[in-house]
Amino acid sequence: MERLWSAMDVVATAPARPRARLMPYVYAGLLVGVGAIARLALDPLLGDRVVFLMFVPALIVAASTGGLLPGLTATAASVAVGVALLARYGVILGNQVDASLFACLGVAVAFGGEWLRRARSHAAEMTTHVLERQDHLKSILDTVPDAMIVIDESGEIQTFGPAAETLFQWSKSEVVGQNVRMLMPSPDREAHDSYLEHYARTGERRIVGLPRTVTAQRKDGSLVIVELYVGETGSGDRKFYTGFLRDLTERNASDARLRGLEAELAHISRLSAMGEMASSLAHELNQPLSAISNYLKGGLMVLQRENPKSRALGPMDKAAEQSLRAGEIIRRLRNFVASGDTERSQASLKTLMEEASALGLVGARERGVTTRMEWDPAVDGVLVDKVQVQQVVLNLLRNAVEAMEDVERRELHVKTGMAPDGMTMVSVADTGCGLSPQIADQLFEPFVTTKGAQGMGVGLSISRSIIEAHGGRIWAEPNPLGGTVFRFTLPAAVSGSSPGEHRLGFPSNSIGT
Ligand code: ADP
Repeated sequence: MERLWSAMDVVATAPARPRARLMPYVYAGLLVGVGAIARLALDPLLGDRVVFLMFVPALIVAASTGGLLPGLTATAASVAVGVALLARYGVILGNQVDASLFACLGVAVAFGGEWLRRARSHAAEMTTHVLERQDHLKSILDTVPDAMIVIDESGEIQTFGPAAETLFQWSKSEVVGQNVRMLMPSPDREAHDSYLEHYARTGERRIVGLPRTVTAQRKDGSLVIVELYVGETGSGDRKFYTGFLRDLTERNASDARLRGLEAELAHISRLSAMGEMASSLAHELNQPLSAISNYLKGGLMVLQRENPKSRALGPMDKAAEQSLRAGEIIRRLRNFVASGDTERSQASLKTLMEEASALGLVGARERGVTTRMEWDPAVDGVLVDKVQVQQVVLNLLRNAVEAMEDVERRELHVKTGMAPDGMTMVSVADTGCGLSPQIADQLFEPFVTTKGAQGMGVGLSISRSIIEAHGGRIWAEPNPLGGTVFRFTLPAAVSGSSPGEHRLGFPSNSIGT
């Protein structure tokens, strides 16, 4: 390829400048003059014969360098000078015929010269065009992010693009002309020549036209996993193979990161589901435990009165004590899960949202969801338990993405802004299926789901617990574009304020609780 380019390195003929256009006339004038002088010098030898032959060089030079007009001018000048020379011998018919034949020859040569000139200028234009195309192609190939290597049939490197230099750490001058096997580790290094030979002999495609993941070797000996696409071109008798190599290191790393995020996401989901279940169980168990404790205390009093020496008194007393303890454990658990031990601190809403989105939107793009984020810099500081609020955002994002699974338009719009009373508001709008009317009234109650076995129906209820524990509100409303908008408010981090001071009245257009 390199050679191909340099072979085409022909300087295009520049468009003729005024001076260059005059030159054929100058040549014609000079050569007619020289022809006349030479003919005068030969007068004693030739007499009145062989006059016009002396002007043929003027004719050819003028027509071939300037085309039609200079050719005709040279013809006219030659005829005029020739006739003047012959006039010295008196005008005879033979000389007139001679002059006429020369004039005809001159016109033919002028046309021939013109044809030649046009063909030359067309060829020059084509060359310029080819050179431009070649430059364009080269600039494209130089900027493609993939490393490009061209080899010939024997494996000799012809071209080594800039991205290949970066990938392999070899410079172009070090590798061009070498065998491409130097860029491979064993066993490919030893076997590559035979691969090429096998392909040339059988035409059986093992890699040409079939993208493959292969291992390449850098200058320092380190290995790099690359995706390789090989194409084939023929130039004359020679065949070239062009290889595009994409470094997969970054992609493999981001795949691993993605898998890590997915695992973390699944873990967080499980944790929040279990937390909410524990809270609900605690709620359900609290009353029977209180009843057990009360019955035991009542039974103890009756037994003490009727049989103060009974041996059952001790165990019953202990049972009552334990039921109180169980009640206390459950109370603490509920407090912890629902609203209790929260670690509030000032946080950047944008950062909090971006981190949660990185987790919540894993796989969203692959499902065809386009996401738009809008952060209002005026409301960035919030006073929150960051992890808990991220749990809420995560849940809203995942619900939104899931709601858009069966619809055509999949747009997610996440936004922060000011709520009417100075609180900070976050909204997550989707263009999904909208809320099911059956559950719209109990959206934030535990175990309300439309997702069958896939859903636990606890995400929104725990979200409400968290947001209300922060002094905010969460609600849902229909999206004018179709789908649903979930909004929640949070106290802005204003010094000297407490979350309670920001408590909001419930928005009039809210649905849900
Ligand atoms: P789960 O997602 O496990 O069902 P959630 O409490 O998070 O539990 O959601 C409860 C129900 O609310 C969902 O089953 C779904 O029917 C409805 N829902 C939540 N978010 C959306 C949304 N963005 N669009 C439509 N329906 C939603």
